[in-house]
Amino acid sequence: MIRVPMTDLPAQHRELKGEILARWEAILDSGAFVGGREVEAFEEAFGNACATPHCVAVSCGTDALCFILRALGLEPGDEVITVANTFIATAAAISQAGGRTVFVDVEPGTCTLDPAKLSAAVTPRTRGILPVHLYGQTADMDAISDFAGERGLWVVEDACQAHLAEYRGHPAGSLGVAGAFSFYPAKNLGACGEAGAVVTADPDIAHTVRMLRHQGQSEKNVHKIRGSNGRCDALQAAALRVKLERLPGWNRRRGEIADRYRRRLAGLSGVELPVVGEGRTHVYHQFVIRLDRRDDVAGELLQRGVETAVHYPVPLHCTPPYRDQAPPEGSLRVTEQCARRQLSLPIYPEMTDRQVDLVCRELEQAVALHGLTAGSRNTERREARPWN
Ligand SMILES: *Cc1c(COP(=O)(O)O)cnc(C)c1O
Repeated sequence: MIRVPMTDLPAQHRELKGEILARWEAILDSGAFVGGREVEAFEEAFGNACATPHCVAVSCGTDALCFILRALGLEPGDEVITVANTFIATAAAISQAGGRTVFVDVEPGTCTLDPAKLSAAVTPRTRGILPVHLYGQTADMDAISDFAGERGLWVVEDACQAHLAEYRGHPAGSLGVAGAFSFYPAKNLGACGEAGAVVTADPDIAHTVRMLRHQGQSEKNVHKIRGSNGRCDALQAAALRVKLERLPGWNRRRGEIADRYRRRLAGLSGVELPVVGEGRTHVYHQFVIRLDRRDDVAGELLQRGVETAVHYPVPLHCTPPYRDQAPPEGSLRVTEQCARRQLSLPIYPEMTDRQVDLVCRELEQAVALHGLTAGSRNTERREARPWN
């Protein structure tokens, strides 16, 4: 029996149902299902939340990323530097826009893009850098932006896991030339279906993304560029508008849960807790610990009624679609170590303190059962590259 699930979306919606259904009823009566007032109202509200003058709602986070890259004029064969320790959508968007992914390693602590690895990855075809604000905290944006600025590269943020996370007081999405968000239901801000958004301070990018999401159309029957259908529907925008009001409180609760995990697990030998980078505020889309014998411990936890997940078990350069773009063997050492050792514990705003304590208790026992201590690292070598 599952005592603590990874997410609890029904619990999230129990409280909001009345409000969302009232707005949906008005949409059914109006017949304005795609675009329209609800979508515009959400764009304005979400743009404000991200401190960006422009927000364009689209069909999903993958399209948001792809449209930004296309608006920046990415051409076939152009290279975009990103990380392999991310959801595959990051790379899919680059491919979809015609680009080539160049993977660099991540920082050992935060698991976000390591700026020290950038210079070795730059070639004459490099156009920009696409850092991922992973698990709810931004990448090291000063170092990345400085590097990009010196070389005339752009920086686009994959902020799909970092709604309202901040870097030196500035919200995710306002730190590069543009930011992409996903509102997949399980994200910190989730739709009741699929949706995404592009935020930017650049009016040209916003204008082009508006055309791209709408078949390249600038006005009725005037098609200026090749676009596609990447629009956001009104039902999603209405639900998102209701939920956006709750988002700061939800993120605060995620922070409280993370603090409770940290207090309870601080002394647990063999378990590394998430590291928050300097100047970054974490919104804990995931609470990711690292430990040896990860799969054994996860299996034990499941038997004890605690769901966990692995974000992500196979680094992108080791997946069939991106293997041909893999960098030289050994150059993504930290990424590969993360893939073997990271484990996401349940974290969601509706989670109770008792559930947090239960996870900690069961984790302590699972860890003890598998004899994990800080010195048990040698198991790692035997399990090397299990995805091959
Ligand atoms: C969720 C996610 C995406 C893609 O979002 P979709 O809405 O599912 O297309 C992209 N990048 C990261 C890091 C994500 O977590």
